Amino acid sequence: MSIFRKKRLRIRIYGETALRKTAAEIAEIDDKIKTLAEVMINTMRSADGVGLAAPQVGESVRMCVLDVPSRRDASALSQGEMSLLPKMPIVLVNPEVLPTTKELVTTEEGCLSVPKIYAPVTRPARIMLTARTLTGELLHVECAGLLSKAVQHEVDHLNGILFPDKLEADEMSKIAGELKKLRKTRGR
Ligand code: ZN
Repeated sequence: MSIFRKKRLRIRIYGETALRKTAAEIAEIDDKIKTLAEVMINTMRSADGVGLAAPQVGESVRMCVLDVPSRRDASALSQGEMSLLPKMPIVLVNPEVLPTTKELVTTEEGCLSVPKIYAPVTRPARIMLTARTLTGELLHVECAGLLSKAVQHEVDHLNGILFPDKLEADEMSKIAGELKKLRKTRGR
């Protein structure tokens, strides 16, 4: 049976090679890509995630889905948060990010591919996101807050990068044992 008939796909776990590939640009948003996006949204939601990138389900293409919750404190929302948070879940095709500030923020991150492990990751506080939506519309918006962090985390997946790669040595040593266990039991 084609994977595209499935409602959900298996999420690849830390140690699996699918997570380490650089994903390919999407040349055309065809029915296959649209179906993959739909199945990825189902997979993300049933796993209770805020984001999922195609390599996490074994598809090496530059697409991710996001389901970032709205902020209660709606005072200084970035343009990206204002336009995208009300539309969740969203699909980003060929997303690119560029920091728009030198300011860095450190916040706890987790990942569906690194289950039950959390650690503080440092990233630029604001980024310019450029991407296509599933209907081909061009997005070019500045994102801050959890949205900025989630987009950066998902674009890392498209480049074969996982959040533990970004940790300071002392934080890495705290989770090294758990990562080793994941690699042994689930990775291949
Ligand atoms: Zn992740």
